[in-house]
Amino acid sequence: LVVLKNVNKHFGALHVLQDIDLTIKRGEVVVVIGPSGSGKSTLCRAINRLETVESGDISIDGKPLPQEGKALARLRADVGMVFQSFNLFAHKTVLENVMLGQIKVRKTSKAEAETKARGLLDRVGVATQADKYPAQLSGGQQQRVAIARALAMDPKVMLFDEPTSALDPEMINEVLEVMQQLARDGMTMVVVTHEMGFARSAANRVVFMADGRIVEEAVPEQFFSNPRSDRAKDFLSKIL
Ligand code: ATP
Ligand code: MG
Repeated sequence: LVVLKNVNKHFGALHVLQDIDLTIKRGEVVVVIGPSGSGKSTLCRAINRLETVESGDISIDGKPLPQEGKALARLRADVGMVFQSFNLFAHKTVLENVMLGQIKVRKTSKAEAETKARGLLDRVGVATQADKYPAQLSGGQQQRVAIARALAMDPKVMLFDEPTSALDPEMINEVLEVMQQLARDGMTMVVVTHEMGFARSAANRVVFMADGRIVEEAVPEQFFSNPRSDRAKDFLSKIL
């Protein structure tokens, strides 16, 4: 579904993505881990073209990423993204946050968008918060709204960039549970996370990055019990 071939990017002298080859199949859950600064966020952002790359090919459903205009807006809808900071529209209600993209990008009618939004808010467990503003919600609730907002666009793939890193510990699980359910429902997902419990239970594959490279790719059991590279061994010894 998502294919990256020989992708390279620099930030000045820093080679932040080096010869990245990665294929994400439909329905697959890929967890990306690695030290700070290894390029995980840049990789995610490249997939929905929040970052451009210098060389290599990125395609979704066999089509290269669009460059601009309406096609780019549709790409951002097809590739849902959930960030560490929830990025909700502060001056819109929760319900409006989940309706907006449907109306603007997918050209859904208002009534249909509202029905869908309420259904999704229910699915992520925040239906009762629909008329509040983001600031009136807990971090965990805001993040679940952000997930609902992305899902409202019927994305082909969902990218999560450390979705629980900014949350208080007691709110982490409520967000991870929503993501677990999404994974069980067959959503194609790329998840950057330090939550190794989630990686073990939900991932089909773990991708380990260091210094802008994919150093190792394996199924979770193999990666956690028997990492091949010294970089991965060193990283795991620090976080487990
Ligand atoms: P973290 O775990 O801390 O989130 P990461 O693996 O997501 O790290 P990236 O955010 O992809 O890492 O950044 C990779 C490198 O690129 C870092 O050294 C970072 O400082 C640098 N970088 C990221 N964005 C920019 C930018 N817009 N301009 C210049 N350098 C950048
Ligand atoms: Mg990051």
